[in-house]
Amino acid sequence: MEKIVISGAGLVGAFWALAMKKRGHEVELYEKRSDMRLDSADGGRSINLIATSRALNAFTTVGILDEVKKIVVPVTGRMMHSLSGDLTYQPYGRDESECNYSVSRSLLNITLLNEAEKAGVKIIFSHELESLDPDAGKAKFGGKTTSFDRFFGADGAGSLTRKELLRLMPNESESVEFIDSDYKELLMPAGSNNEYLMEKKALHIWPRGNHMLMALPNLKGSFTMTMYLPKTGEDGFENLKTKEDVTKFFEKYYKSAIPHMPDFANEYFENPQGKLGTVRMSKWVYKDKVALMGDAAHSIVPFFGQGMNCGMEDCFYLLSFIEKHGESWQKVFEDYDRYQRPNGNAIADMALENFVEMKEKVGDERFLLKKAVEHKIENLFPEKYRARYGMVTYTLIPYATAQKAGVIQNKILDELIDGISDVSELDVKKAETLIDELFVPFVKESGISLERYLEGQAPKYIS
Ligand SMILES: Cc1cc2nc3c(=O)[nH]c(=O)nc-3n(C[C@H](O)[C@H](O)[C@H](O)COP(=O)(O)OP(=O)(O)OC[C@H]3O[C@@H](n4cnc5c(N)ncnc54)[C@H](O)[C@@H]3O)c2cc1C
Repeated sequence: MEKIVISGAGLVGAFWALAMKKRGHEVELYEKRSDMRLDSADGGRSINLIATSRALNAFTTVGILDEVKKIVVPVTGRMMHSLSGDLTYQPYGRDESECNYSVSRSLLNITLLNEAEKAGVKIIFSHELESLDPDAGKAKFGGKTTSFDRFFGADGAGSLTRKELLRLMPNESESVEFIDSDYKELLMPAGSNNEYLMEKKALHIWPRGNHMLMALPNLKGSFTMTMYLPKTGEDGFENLKTKEDVTKFFEKYYKSAIPHMPDFANEYFENPQGKLGTVRMSKWVYKDKVALMGDAAHSIVPFFGQGMNCGMEDCFYLLSFIEKHGESWQKVFEDYDRYQRPNGNAIADMALENFVEMKEKVGDERFLLKKAVEHKIENLFPEKYRARYGMVTYTLIPYATAQKAGVIQNKILDELIDGISDVSELDVKKAETLIDELFVPFVKESGISLERYLEGQAPKYIS
């Protein structure tokens, strides 16, 4: 048995504490904030997240999927709201059984903290990591020093663990890049009988060029709405100074949402404006002592819905390498850094690409045609084609491999939409030839079996 110390009791830290406790270690989990379970419930006001195959896989591995199942809402596709109020629905997966699961971040965090505590993890709230000396096996939290055999930094995008590792490894580097958009949460409350006022099984998007409004369902009829706006410029946050400005902005761009959002103009000024960015670090581990995980290692923009999923996958990879190397930690950490760091970089890139896709392209006819063609060929050739979105969301194919596959698929789709204006005009024979000539050889070269590209993880977990 070793003494494991974890900094940060967010989603990843709480989950990892549980996983380590279940392996028989003594686990101390430190969190700088107070215990969120004692604060007043924030209902639908919390960010909600999409949990997909990678998180579901990690939850299954540690035996908590049944608990998580109780707090999710299945979402089967995107519903686009045009400026004139027209609705276009794009299914996510090959069929309705492939879906994403919307979950409140705070409810999920509470579930994970409860499970960790039940298993015997010692959770110390209101204690912030102040310094770390891995070679001496000591860390200071809230003025008190604790010792450890192994230390995990799950202390989020602004991680102090990461800063301490940079101090200890001067040849390594981090990069922190914010995008020009921020976000703000609003609420669409449930109807008078707790009913959903829009289609429940969809992620709703109002794409408007350089900005958008999104909505994900909560458990009891409400939707958490997220506005993504440039910080500056005509349609930017800086220009929305009064309730009148906000009301006019909504009337101009998000009119169809207004009837169901009675308090949006007040909430706009009550709720904080959050930053969005990408954090990368050139090494995630220090000797056999410290590993970074979750947002501390790879904070990414939320437009692929994979930040937490990738964090849970970090835990899964670490557990797999512990299985392989029998807690020879030097090897575990080396493998973790070698295999999972490129995946963190790949999903960071794909999330940035999706930012452009969601705000600019989901309203673009050629883009919609491309998506429709892809959906069609995925259904026509289920035995040999899997869209990148599905690979990232429903399989455990490494993110870095899915990213490479996406480049090839883009080539195929560009050729297929060339000269057509409707999906009914798709040249099916040409599609099959291109798949055979470009995609199938890529799969063979990747060394991963075709079956793994084609598998759908989600239905296995939650029906
Ligand atoms: C708008 C938005 C939408 C998102 N949507 C999705 C989605 O759909 N799907 C998805 O998978 N991901 C999504 N994400 C990303 C997801 O929220 C994060 O990836 C996830 O919360 C990261 O978990 P974490 O535990 O690594 O970090 P955090 O959740 O940031 O937790 C870190 C914890 O460490 C604590 N801490 C910080 N510093 C210290 C210190 N010095 N000492 C002790 N404790 C400390 C913090 O208080 C916090 O509790 C979204 C993010 C945003 C902003």
